Amino acid sequence: MTSPLLPVFARTDLSFEKGEGAWLHGRDGERYLDFGAGIAVNALGHAHPHLVKALTEQAGKVWHTSNLFRIPEGERLAQRLVDNTFADVVFFSNSGAEANEAAIKMARKYHAAKGQPERFRIVTFEGAFHGRTLATIAAGGQAKYLEGFGPKVEGFDQVPVEDLNALKAAIGPETAALMIEPIQGEGGIRTVSNAFLRELRALCDSHGLLLIFDEIQTGVGRTGKLFAYEWTGVTPDIMSVAKGIGGGFPLGACLATAEAAQGMTAGTHGTTFGGNPLAMAVGNAVLDVILAPGFLKEVERKGLLLKQRLAELKDRHPGIIAEVRGQGLMMGLRTVVPNTGFIAAARAQKLLVIGAGDNVARLLPPLIIGDAEISEAVNRIEAACEALEAEQASAAQRGAVQ
Ligand SMILES: *Cc1c(COP(=O)(O)O)cnc(C)c1O
Repeated sequence: MTSPLLPVFARTDLSFEKGEGAWLHGRDGERYLDFGAGIAVNALGHAHPHLVKALTEQAGKVWHTSNLFRIPEGERLAQRLVDNTFADVVFFSNSGAEANEAAIKMARKYHAAKGQPERFRIVTFEGAFHGRTLATIAAGGQAKYLEGFGPKVEGFDQVPVEDLNALKAAIGPETAALMIEPIQGEGGIRTVSNAFLRELRALCDSHGLLLIFDEIQTGVGRTGKLFAYEWTGVTPDIMSVAKGIGGGFPLGACLATAEAAQGMTAGTHGTTFGGNPLAMAVGNAVLDVILAPGFLKEVERKGLLLKQRLAELKDRHPGIIAEVRGQGLMMGLRTVVPNTGFIAAARAQKLLVIGAGDNVARLLPPLIIGDAEISEAVNRIEAACEALEAEQASAAQRGAVQ
């Protein structure tokens, strides 16, 4: 099947006509259990009644006015984010990469506003993913995303995670900020230790640097707190958010303290679509559900249940699963077999999971997932493991016959 779409995605030949909670109805007539949630985006699953209502009601009123005018729904969403985080101010974007662009520009402008424009460099970490714009591929530092796109945007220095000496050596008179994901998502659900994050905070404080957390994947309840930094005892100065905050509607945000944001005065940054009334209505509806009493405690409990069940699977299938890692409903299975083969085997059991670096299959179910659906997913993963083991056994037998 040929397609007029730019072939930058290696798409699975599968599409869906309807979604309900954690389930997707494929056009192939099959029902899939969705443990990918559109890459951690559908935080409340598919067709959540509260989100459908908020979007359709807003659609009947006003879609877009531009940021030339006040947008009350946006002021309300920003206030709720401020009330529930370290931040004092919020900039809304359409995507994660744009939220990070705002964060990067803000960190540079902070020093420029303080009379030190030479401080523009940002230290980032190996295995990072910050988006696909020119600046964010430079921040992410992955050769596979940079190759062929001309000179890398200047001003990013990368060091290994947990390597304090390398980090100290990378900080110089031009350094403006440190930027990190508390748990690397695309990199393979790799958790950064609280001790290392504390070192980052201390270095920022002693060198006058800003600490940027990219919580685009870890945020909005994914780990069982509204934001993952709440687990760490470390507070950033700037934080990027996207994915779950729109529940499937394109929405990102850059949150910051008033101190960090001081350079971002009228006219210094902008967006046409960012924070439009449709996006703001949905963002507020997402927060209605996630901030309801008990919701995040349930995410935490379900995350522990899932992790426990996955650990049991790993013990039963050591030839397939090497490691279970992650927090809350952000889980990774590092597989012994190629992760692509594992993901295909899960799909054959009508379970959708997604790949990540370090040969990991990511499990990112919607936060509204039920215990019975967690059990169902574990059973399907077990069936996938058994199918892969049967393949291994028959391959070994063919080897022995030859
Ligand atoms: C997905 C992601 C991004 C990029 O978000 P887009 O909306 O695709 O631009 C950036 N950082 C992290 C940690 C992400 O998971």
